[in-house]
Amino acid sequence: MDKRILAMTAIERLGKGGLGHFVNGEAITGEGEVFPILEPATGQVLGEGHDATEAQLEQAVAAATAAFPAWSATAPEKRRKILNRVADLIVERAEEIAAVECLDAGQCWRFMSKAALRGAENFRFFADRAPGAADGLALPTMDHLNYTTRKAIGPVAVITPWNTPFMLSTWKIAPALAAGCTVVHKPAEWSPYSARLLVEIAHEAGLPAGVFNSVNGLGETTGRRLTEHPDIKAIAFVGDSSTGSAIMRQGAATLKRVHFELGGKNPVIVFDDADLEAALDAVVFMIYSLNGQRCTSSSRVLIQRNIYDAFVNRIAERARNLKVGDPFDPATEVGPLIHPRHFAKVSSYTDIARSEGAQIAAGGAPVEGSEGYFFQPTLFADAEQGMRIAREEIFGPVLTAVPFEDEADAIAKANAVDYGLAGYVWSRDVQRVLRVSEALDVGMVWVNSENVRHLPTPFGGTKASGIGRDGGDWSFDFYMETKNIALSRGTHSTMRLGV
Ligand code: NAD
Repeated sequence: MDKRILAMTAIERLGKGGLGHFVNGEAITGEGEVFPILEPATGQVLGEGHDATEAQLEQAVAAATAAFPAWSATAPEKRRKILNRVADLIVERAEEIAAVECLDAGQCWRFMSKAALRGAENFRFFADRAPGAADGLALPTMDHLNYTTRKAIGPVAVITPWNTPFMLSTWKIAPALAAGCTVVHKPAEWSPYSARLLVEIAHEAGLPAGVFNSVNGLGETTGRRLTEHPDIKAIAFVGDSSTGSAIMRQGAATLKRVHFELGGKNPVIVFDDADLEAALDAVVFMIYSLNGQRCTSSSRVLIQRNIYDAFVNRIAERARNLKVGDPFDPATEVGPLIHPRHFAKVSSYTDIARSEGAQIAAGGAPVEGSEGYFFQPTLFADAEQGMRIAREEIFGPVLTAVPFEDEADAIAKANAVDYGLAGYVWSRDVQRVLRVSEALDVGMVWVNSENVRHLPTPFGGTKASGIGRDGGDWSFDFYMETKNIALSRGTHSTMRLGV
């Protein structure tokens, strides 16, 4: 079937009468305020979503709370089986999921077809680790046998952004379910449809009612109520740094455990001894793929002065050559931005770049003749690290190039931002690579590589880029409480009081 028709058919079915919620194993009709859901490539209204009412949000949290005792006590082998089945069904419906992402999030088919499968891998990875999730350590002393064990923390909230909605949702929800937690998910209001597919698939795979609930709505209402709810024990949040701060405040009264994956202004440092062809491919890929709406995007390229002009020219040439257009066209490399508000934000940086004295080496303007939110792949050159274009997260197909003199200058510039998500280092000098990687104040460094995710490794950022790590056992540590149990060997003597 034509992919666009496939997506339209799915969205019509999911959003009949307005996109509602999925609570306690069934779809419930939306009753709250209505918000429009737009198609980024055309600006047309795809459908409407309903902000959850207070009663509906209450219903979702109550379902997750009621389902928690049985799900957390379910044999981990059974959890493994169900979650692997979720992965199987994601694979079976990968084309439909990818098509919905193209239509609803404006992401290009060439990337989304893989992203849906990555969602399945996320489920499989954590499903297979469910049997070991409670495992702890033996920490014996002469007098006591101490051992640790873990148990699921309780019902948790998962709040996700709009950029690659399906993949990111699976990344948070799969480990929560594998650990034995129950979930209330609130996807982003700008691209909510694939989240509904996920919750449907999970139930088709045999997940018991109430274990995974999905509520739609706005951040300020549904999101806020969810994070303030006393029965929610932890909040896994992916989104903007300022929203992370708000959520921390909202969760403070009920002492929520939080895990934040937030924004970034990730440096790619290109030294003059690097494999420049490979570095160029990686720089271009990491900023212009996913429409530049990627948290780990290489949004700043720091280039050693003696190769700066030539390297900038080559990026500019590539940027001008990128194929911008219909996300469903397999040849398209850059699609539209998600929403008119985001489009206005990204567009505003061209004037900022000019006023700060940077050069517009490529792009810098909306794509003419389009109804959608298409922005030209853009390169700001000759920037200084203090400029806003080199410090702020733009979150579009917009790259800022800054020259540097030597290793110390590169490190100082790389670290001179509020963010600390990822860093990329390009050099053939092994010792320099080691020094720079260790000096970067970020959560993840890729050396001579673009971002290649390996699920057992920790993912997350420092400073304003986040709190906590995902991946491998780090995910379980967030969704579980660790308990130490100390058994006396009967060999120690207790101090006797009141004798
Ligand atoms: P956002 O913070 O505006 O929204 C994210 C989610 O939070 C949405 O579901 C929204 O409805 C909800 N929300 C908003 N206000 C809320 C509130 N007060 N209480 C509870 N929930 C609230 O972010 P966005 O614009 O959707 O996403 C883009 C951002 O996400 C970028 O900054 C990007 O870097 C970041 N991101 C980070 C990672 C990572 O792994 N570090 C991954 C993807 C995206």
